[in-house]
Amino acid sequence: MRQAALATGLLGPGMIGLTLGYSIFIVRGYMGRRLVSHECRHVYQYETHGSIAAFLPIYLLQIATVGYVNAPFEQDARAHELESC
Ligand SMILES: [Zn+2]
Repeated sequence: MRQAALATGLLGPGMIGLTLGYSIFIVRGYMGRRLVSHECRHVYQYETHGSIAAFLPIYLLQIATVGYVNAPFEQDARAHELESC
């Protein structure tokens, strides 16, 4: 799973937010309403899939096959972003 995350750029230098279950990690200087709402939607996605173990393989497969921007979980998270203040 680590290799898939690295190969897809998920854990690359461009990453500014990461959600693992109920833990949301945001790179210093990037905290904002829009990013937090995006990451909270990922929390919802984890909840609806039941666990990190159930969610992550599906998420990584989406990223690996259609790319980060077109991954359905990412599109859903972007659709639920709140505007920045
Ligand atoms: Zn996302």
